[in-house]
Amino acid sequence: MKFANQVAIVTGAGRGIGRAIAMRLASEGARIAVVSRTEKNSVQVADEINAKYAGLAKAYAVDAADHAAVQTLCAQIITDFTRVDILVNNAGITRDGLSMRMSPEDWNSVIATNLGGAFNFYQGVARAMMKQRSGRIINIASVAGIMGNAGQANYAASKAGLIAFTKVVARELATRGVTSNAVAPGFISTDMTDVLSQEIKDGVAKQIPMQKFGEPDDIANAVAFLASTEGKYITGQVLTVDGGLVM
Ligand code: NAP
Repeated sequence: MKFANQVAIVTGAGRGIGRAIAMRLASEGARIAVVSRTEKNSVQVADEINAKYAGLAKAYAVDAADHAAVQTLCAQIITDFTRVDILVNNAGITRDGLSMRMSPEDWNSVIATNLGGAFNFYQGVARAMMKQRSGRIINIASVAGIMGNAGQANYAASKAGLIAFTKVVARELATRGVTSNAVAPGFISTDMTDVLSQEIKDGVAKQIPMQKFGEPDDIANAVAFLASTEGKYITGQVLTVDGGLVM
């Protein structure tokens, strides 16, 4: 039980990668604040965790892009669980389109959710972690934030920004016992990639040295490692989990 007595906030935990991360941390004893935008999704995952691991999870719903609402929510979570040890900033969206034609709304909503959301949750927990002199912040970036991806100017910029933000936090909190790292998934089978046509999926798979998409659990395993004591001397890093796509 690597995470016994620890509390983790996982955003975007209502499905996909966030759900897998929440389940994985709970399986090793963490109590989980399951946060999603849609309440029914977070409730479903919290119920699933509680059925499997007996009373370790609580569901919350918030728009990660809403700074004030996230501060209120984080204060509530810290009251409910009395502490916070792990923050996984996983909530994210895509609004794809060629950069020349991208609407300012699509640009702004992706930056506000993917980058702003991580900043908002960070501000909600940073003081508590600094006071404890321990904490793990793990931001779910993307290989798009390293390589760029045609049609994803907003998304790639948000993830590149998230990587830079991860490193700033790592430097600022390194002496306070708080680590900050990013996990950059490649192509993972979730609702987000389900929208791609089979033809595009096959084309993408050919570019990946392992020739296949990853599973949400592949990301959850990397997060669990960075969140554990085994990751205590690792900070400011980007761990790509992508079947060899970026090397
Ligand atoms: P997904 O299946 O689309 O799930 C996204 C999750 O984020 C959902 O739980 C959703 O909540 C939540 N969310 C979205 N907007 C939110 C908001 N404004 N406030 C709060 N929660 C919000 O996505 P996924 O594939 O699991 O991706 C998870 C993360 O991994 C994202 O940051 C994504 O960019 C990153 N990633 C994914 C891939 C991939 O191939 N799948 C690759 C690289 C990086 P609701 O369920 O309530 O709507």
